Amino acid sequence: MDKKRVEAYRKQLEERQQALRKIVASTEQAGRDADVGTAQDIADRAANSYTKEFLFYQSNNERQTLNLVESALARIREGTFGECINCGNEINAKRLDAVPWTRYCINCQEKMERGELQETANE
Ligand SMILES: [Zn+2]
Repeated sequence: MDKKRVEAYRKQLEERQQALRKIVASTEQAGRDADVGTAQDIADRAANSYTKEFLFYQSNNERQTLNLVESALARIREGTFGECINCGNEINAKRLDAVPWTRYCINCQEKMERGELQETANE
């Protein structure tokens, strides 16, 4: 992949990384805030734990994406960005444009969705 394209993806990924870091940090803070002054009323407590669960789920999602973004940045540094981490084939440019942190080519992604491919452990 030519350097200009890699640079453009790197910029996109770094922006996303920063945005996600902020979200993850602020949801963690909100989760802690929900703990402070826990209401004694049962309805309030239920609402509170629902909020926490929701925040936890959400920050989990963000955290996962953040991990993917960070490993994509690592692949840029290693010079393997844009290659499928399973088969090594080049990932379609449109796919990368849509989701620059994607790790698999379309074939492997489909295998993965059919459960024919195991998620690698080193993520
Ligand atoms: Zn592949």
